[in-house]
Amino acid sequence: MGSGILRAGARFLPAGAVVLMYHSVLPDPAPQRDILGGIVHPLAVFERQMEVLAREYHPVSMQEVHAFVLGQKPLPRRSVAVTFDDGYADNLEVAGPVLRRYGIPATVYVTVDCVEQRQIPWPARLRRAFLTTKKTAWTRPGGAPVSLPEAAERQHSLDLTSDHCAGLCGDVQEQFVAAIERDLEVGPYTANLMMSWEQLRTWVKQGHIAGSHTLTHPNVAHIGDAELQRELSESKRRMEQQLSQEITHFAYPGPALQPIWSQKTRQVCHAVGYKVVVTTTSGLVRPGADPLGLCRVGAAQTVAGLRWNLENSFLGRRV
Ligand SMILES: [Zn+2]
Repeated sequence: MGSGILRAGARFLPAGAVVLMYHSVLPDPAPQRDILGGIVHPLAVFERQMEVLAREYHPVSMQEVHAFVLGQKPLPRRSVAVTFDDGYADNLEVAGPVLRRYGIPATVYVTVDCVEQRQIPWPARLRRAFLTTKKTAWTRPGGAPVSLPEAAERQHSLDLTSDHCAGLCGDVQEQFVAAIERDLEVGPYTANLMMSWEQLRTWVKQGHIAGSHTLTHPNVAHIGDAELQRELSESKRRMEQQLSQEITHFAYPGPALQPIWSQKTRQVCHAVGYKVVVTTTSGLVRPGADPLGLCRVGAAQTVAGLRWNLENSFLGRRV
């Protein structure tokens, strides 16, 4: 509706590519709602979105987007790259066959500790703890008691806890999350949602790209210098060891707090050898853009929403 007019207008605009951001794709997201929230796409929607991309747009890889911003390779108008954050196994198992059917290349950014420990990223663990706990009261460290049956208080507690956790990484983060799970009396989450190294190797063999999303998914603009260095370089090193290839792609986690990157994080990305880095800032990727701070666009939860986001982004509007 109305997208024909938007599309006609896009012909007169300078070239640009859209990098779409997905997380998880499941046949039935309902059972995972208390864990993954709004980051899951139902398979039926994802399938229709990929069909639209293949028919009305030009799917390209992040390697092509990189060459495009460097001025080494022109891209057709309405070029779109597909990316997935966190490293869910469903990217290969559920989205993979759809991508193959439509010939769409994609990039997955994995949280390396989650791959190695088959553990969901901490925002999902905290969400699960607060949304599934049977406890009715909880006292935030240094705070007032919270009545958990009150939806607003429960959500507020989750938000505050997430803001705190976003600045933690490694063992300190693990201890913090485990303490919340203990406090709220939810046992460890045992279902396996994350890719294994073997699955990631299959992903790469299928022609897709694997990039890093840190070791433990902190907001890297809010952690110490040594931790920043380690999250960026150690995740890269372990991926290179496991995949026997150089890892040059990276996606900033944006679990909570703003901003999610800075000139310092950009400098460390450059120093450790990342070449193509994506953020969660919405916008069109134009020729000459900084390859170490590329915009992305949310995929939206419907086909109409996806078209709207794409058409507006190609017109240079933020969505
Ligand atoms: Zn993430």
